Amino acid sequence: MAIVIRNGRVIDPASNTDRVADVLIVEGRVAGVAPNLSSPKAEVFDATGMIVAPGFIDMHVHLREPGFEHAETIESGSRAAAAGGFTTICCMPNTKPVNDSATVTSYIVEKARRNAVVNVYPIGAITKGSGGEELAAIGAMKAAGAVAISDDGLPVMNARVMRRAMEFARSYDLPIIQHCEDLNLSAGGDMHEGTQSVRWGLRGIPAASEDVMVARDLVLAQLTGARYHVAHISTRNAVAMVDYARRAGLPVSCEATPHHFALCDSEMLPYDSNYKMKPPLRSCSHRDAVMNGIAAGTIGAIATDHAPHPGSEKMQEFERCPFGIIGFETAVGLAIEELVTPGKISLGRMVELFTTGPESVMRLGRGTLAPGAPGDVTIFSTDVEWTYDVNQSPSRSRNTPFDGRKFRGGPMATVVNGEMVWKR
Ligand SMILES: [Zn+2]
Repeated sequence: MAIVIRNGRVIDPASNTDRVADVLIVEGRVAGVAPNLSSPKAEVFDATGMIVAPGFIDMHVHLREPGFEHAETIESGSRAAAAGGFTTICCMPNTKPVNDSATVTSYIVEKARRNAVVNVYPIGAITKGSGGEELAAIGAMKAAGAVAISDDGLPVMNARVMRRAMEFARSYDLPIIQHCEDLNLSAGGDMHEGTQSVRWGLRGIPAASEDVMVARDLVLAQLTGARYHVAHISTRNAVAMVDYARRAGLPVSCEATPHHFALCDSEMLPYDSNYKMKPPLRSCSHRDAVMNGIAAGTIGAIATDHAPHPGSEKMQEFERCPFGIIGFETAVGLAIEELVTPGKISLGRMVELFTTGPESVMRLGRGTLAPGAPGDVTIFSTDVEWTYDVNQSPSRSRNTPFDGRKFRGGPMATVVNGEMVWKR
């Protein structure tokens, strides 16, 4: 079993590679990166004019299995991930039941092994049922395959519980990922608090609800020494505070979603629930702060926060709709169009945001094309023209604001453990 990816521009930040070469994968592992490689009976993919990168990692996704299989399954979600150029995804624990025990973690690992076309790593809950009060079985979940802990969808509101969780995360050497939202400040809100929410008469979620939680957690991170990660960062102050903590030498990191760098609240279609997510689309000055945080290196990863909801739930009044949008298939296109093409970041930096960035937080042993590494490859083009048609998506859900958008640049093929699992 071998595959050779011919003549692409190979960008592998982890091994400082940026040159035209072939990539040879044999028996699921990278056998070499060099010109004119060949292997008898190898499948050949001609990547002339394309970028060949280590497999992209999405460290923040929702797969909805077990419990909400009408919205997504591990299988359907993994196929959508592959179609977005992702070879590895980390799934959040807000399933039913919540992934707060080794039993649920093992169920996800086993289901993924049998049904997923990409690598799937579960993230365990911080607290039982993500209820915010009693710590989950963190050690047992790690032993069963959990690679991080998070109550994503909800914050850990109780500072004493968060401190204890950070102490556990540190002793188990797991990253702890926080959904930063002070629920008292955000209560009842449906979109970013600002002129737009006032104009539409919708209740606001203030930027301060994110800021105060980031501030509190950074104090606790300093106290405990935990590896602390801010999910889906979206405000100017949050980016500034993470920057400050990183300069102070704390093991702190954060991620941004494509929608938070691509859109502002002023671009929302009125009362269209495909623009409803948490954190909400902020005003353009916050969006610019996220862009600048990506360019400056404060934000080290792009994560989709892929959050499928079936049409029956998303087609209600704005206030009643659940939060979240799907994001796998548009992420690479948005990164190219919004970040690389306007010259805000280099192509190499973009590849870092999808590979070494998330890898440095999650430590999966992936994100490089070094010899012997897992044979995960993302092949993409910066000039392929395509239109996103969500009705063609392998996802079971259709909630996206990007349906019908024309893109220049996007994924071309996805190779997981030496096997081509998706091709444009
Ligand atoms: Zn979240």
